[in-house]
Amino acid sequence: MKKILVANRGEIAIRVMKSAQKMGIKTVAVYSTADRNAPHVKFADEAVWIGESPSNQSYLLGDKIIEVAKSLNVDAIHPGYGFLSENADFAESVEKNGMIWIGPKSAAIRVMGSKLAAKDAVKDYNIPMVPGLDEAITDVEAAKKTAVEVGFPILIKASAGGGGKGMRIVENEAEFESQMNRAISEATNAFGDGSVFIEKYIGSPRHIEIQIMADSHGNILYLFERECSIQRRHQKVVEEAPSAVLTPELRKKMGEAAVLVAKSCDYLNAGTVEFLLDENNNFYFLEMNTRLQVEHPVTEIITQLDLVEMQIKIARGEAMTIKQEDLKIYGHAIELRVYAEDPLNDFLPSVGHLDVYKLPVGEGIRVDNGFEQGMDIPIYYDPMLAKLITYADTREEAIQLMIKAISDYKVEGVSTTLPFGKFVCEHEAFRSGNFDTNFVKKYYDVETLKNVHNQEAKLAAMIALQRYFQDQKILTIPNS
Ligand code: ADP
Ligand code: ADP
Ligand code: MG
Repeated sequence: MKKILVANRGEIAIRVMKSAQKMGIKTVAVYSTADRNAPHVKFADEAVWIGESPSNQSYLLGDKIIEVAKSLNVDAIHPGYGFLSENADFAESVEKNGMIWIGPKSAAIRVMGSKLAAKDAVKDYNIPMVPGLDEAITDVEAAKKTAVEVGFPILIKASAGGGGKGMRIVENEAEFESQMNRAISEATNAFGDGSVFIEKYIGSPRHIEIQIMADSHGNILYLFERECSIQRRHQKVVEEAPSAVLTPELRKKMGEAAVLVAKSCDYLNAGTVEFLLDENNNFYFLEMNTRLQVEHPVTEIITQLDLVEMQIKIARGEAMTIKQEDLKIYGHAIELRVYAEDPLNDFLPSVGHLDVYKLPVGEGIRVDNGFEQGMDIPIYYDPMLAKLITYADTREEAIQLMIKAISDYKVEGVSTTLPFGKFVCEHEAFRSGNFDTNFVKKYYDVETLKNVHNQEAKLAAMIALQRYFQDQKILTIPNS
């Protein structure tokens, strides 16, 4: 494998290219009009414009990307996450065109891409699942009956859903039908597939996921867990590894369950098995993501492994050399997704111009970044700017380091989730480890953040004023 094309943009494109470069493999970037000066374009050995800014005219054009790859004699394609990464047809087409797909086989992508097909696949493997209806709702009355049996509140979910989209909580029987109809129409619009199903709504769950890695020689490893319970809109903002609550026994049990899920679909390469963990330490299979995950860096840090390097080696047909019993957890890592969103305004996207953009540096700090000062944040894509990761021997130290790194991360021109990250890291519930996916709903209070914000702004203004007066004195004294 001499040349890899990365069919993605932003931080993840750069992240993948870094490992390729380290392994002596040449890299090709693709980009849209909005990204013509983006860092991932500059980072690559070669870069090719593939279309206009909207992703359906660029990053989602599988055929175009394959054509570019072939013309440049590319050996393999890495899809990153999002975009075409979970598109089974694209994966298949890459291989049909004589190139290597750095990811699972298309059959596994297809099965796990549908939450219903996934449940069906793991049925025979004794994996605990959330109570509910494991087939698409076709008969409203029958579905309502299941919902009553399961007990309200229930969750109506889109089978094809992803990115926290396509979910509706139903509190009681009376609103069942209207919510179901809304869910179907949302799912049809967002995913082109209106299949929805019912799950019991677990009241206070933690989102715990297991990283797995499978090679083509029959080896499947679990690389421990990531805790991803700090979410807004059912989407992760802060992740960490290891989880503050898993015992070694539970870790092993969940790890082995994840390996079974991988077996159920003849899995290859990197994947993540997501579970909900309830207050009584019961865990339930949610879904499997058949790609490298946004939050993979925390796993890399605590295992001291390069997951992209492993992905590439597996794609080349190599066997993993490390064994499950050799794997160890080193220290603690926390990741904050730095989104261009306004945490004071319901986390709405805050795109604009990066007037100031300076990253924190230092021991125990890793930033996977896709932007630089002076750039505009395109409105066309996911508004994540970077991932700020801190790590240390203990959880407490990693949290402290995160608070410091957030204050050293300078962004002006757009709002970001950085102040939210500080709020989380300073919150007693997070620090104690006693929290669940309701953290934002339960504790996050915009007023507290605004007060801190105002106090900091006031303090900054006072310091500026003081400096101004001092400067005035310095200027006026020689003249007087
Ligand atoms: P992770 O589980 O890796 O944290 P997310 O759910 O946050 O993944 O999604 C990762 C990326 O993929 C984001 O850019 C998100 O917008 C995108 N994404 C995930 N699932 C879908 C989907 N079904 N349709 C469109 N985009 C998706
Ligand atoms: P997506 O494909 O959008 O990532 P998931 O099934 O992984 O969908 O769920 C995303 C998040 O939604 C979970 O991390 C959790 O916070 C919440 N969630 C999903 N299913 C349930 C459930 N049955 N009960 C409570 N919360 C749930
Ligand atoms: Mg998920």
